[in-house]
Amino acid sequence: MAKRVNIIGGGIAGCALAYMIKREGGEPVIYEAAPRMYEDEPEHDCSTYNPRYSAQWDENAKYFSMGYFEALRLFEEFGGKGFNWDQCGTLQLMANEKKARRYSKTVASWNENGWSEEDICLVSAKEASDIAGLEVEKECMFLKRSGVVSPLRICSKLIKSVEVKLNQKVEDAAALEGDATVLACGAKVTLFEEAAHLPISSVRGQVTFIRETEVSSKVRTTINYGGHISPSLNGVQYIGATFQPWLKHTKVLPEDDDQNIHNLCERFPALAGEYDVVAGKAGMRSAARDHFPVIGRLSDKVYISAAHGSFGFTSSLASAIILAKKIVKNEDVISEDVIKKMSPGRFGKA
Ligand SMILES: Cc1cc2nc3c(=O)[nH]c(=O)nc-3n(C[C@H](O)[C@H](O)[C@H](O)COP(=O)(O)OP(=O)(O)OC[C@H]3O[C@@H](n4cnc5c(N)ncnc54)[C@H](O)[C@@H]3O)c2cc1C
Repeated sequence: MAKRVNIIGGGIAGCALAYMIKREGGEPVIYEAAPRMYEDEPEHDCSTYNPRYSAQWDENAKYFSMGYFEALRLFEEFGGKGFNWDQCGTLQLMANEKKARRYSKTVASWNENGWSEEDICLVSAKEASDIAGLEVEKECMFLKRSGVVSPLRICSKLIKSVEVKLNQKVEDAAALEGDATVLACGAKVTLFEEAAHLPISSVRGQVTFIRETEVSSKVRTTINYGGHISPSLNGVQYIGATFQPWLKHTKVLPEDDDQNIHNLCERFPALAGEYDVVAGKAGMRSAARDHFPVIGRLSDKVYISAAHGSFGFTSSLASAIILAKKIVKNEDVISEDVIKKMSPGRFGKA
């Protein structure tokens, strides 16, 4: 009989997990506290998708590579361009000597471990400028197939034939009937007894959607420079993001939009000018003390997929593949070092 897996939380982590559980032959059920989870036609929903980089071919690199290549595969499966994702490429600015050394090492070690030069390479400032459509003063790391995506639209595709219970705020994970229950409820995971001991905390951030100007509309790739800017999608560009551990709310602040615009113009003087803010969106990134995601078993039937930090899209996909295979088939899809590095067990038990 198919294994019934309860998933608490209908964000990208929960939706990705539901999709993978189904793919493995299990029966996922999502419990979501909110009255709505995703939208087919969301206004202003945009995220960058890229791996979290590390200089060596280590646990981080293996984990995020799995999520990144799964993202590329899924976008093809779901119909590719045209539903709000743009494989426009990502330039990662080598803004200082430290970053230049680090990214050079990243490219060398990832090229030796399955990433082709098409997937990741270094480009000169001149090449970066030609790629970006904007003068870029420094050398960059370039990921040709990275870009931007609408997580809400992807979620709607991921859970097409999944049972979803809306307005269902779960308080006791162990009380749900089924073969396994996964806490995939972002910053709220530590409210559950099984996860209360985990050092997971949240950092507020805000992104800004600006109306393109004649100059900014020339940007052709996503550029990460500490902040980031996307190419124009229907006349709107996505920039961000603020990082405010001291703020505990997700109210949109006009001064944060100003800050995002200021940071952009400071980095790229060619983009300096007045911008109309179309929308701002604020949220919480939850992260563990060591900045690695927390994925694995917490107790007999309770698992966790949380602390996906600033790389929620690729991290959610990688964690979903790992957990679905483990829960439904009791198999490991990635090497033991990665599983240990991400395991909640690394923080001991309360
Ligand atoms: C400003 C900002 C910019 C970002 N930019 C990017 C980016 O460009 N690229 C990227 O990859 N990531 C980005 N991130 C990170 C990304 O948004 C997160 O990592 C990701 O959303 C985490 O997804 P999640 O499903 O784990 O959690 P969430 O999105 O928080 O979803 C958790 C869900 O669980 C539900 N829930 C909570 N408690 C309960 C309960 N008791 N019962 C039932 N349901 C419950 C909530 O209602 C919610 O729907 C950004 C984050 C911020 C704040």
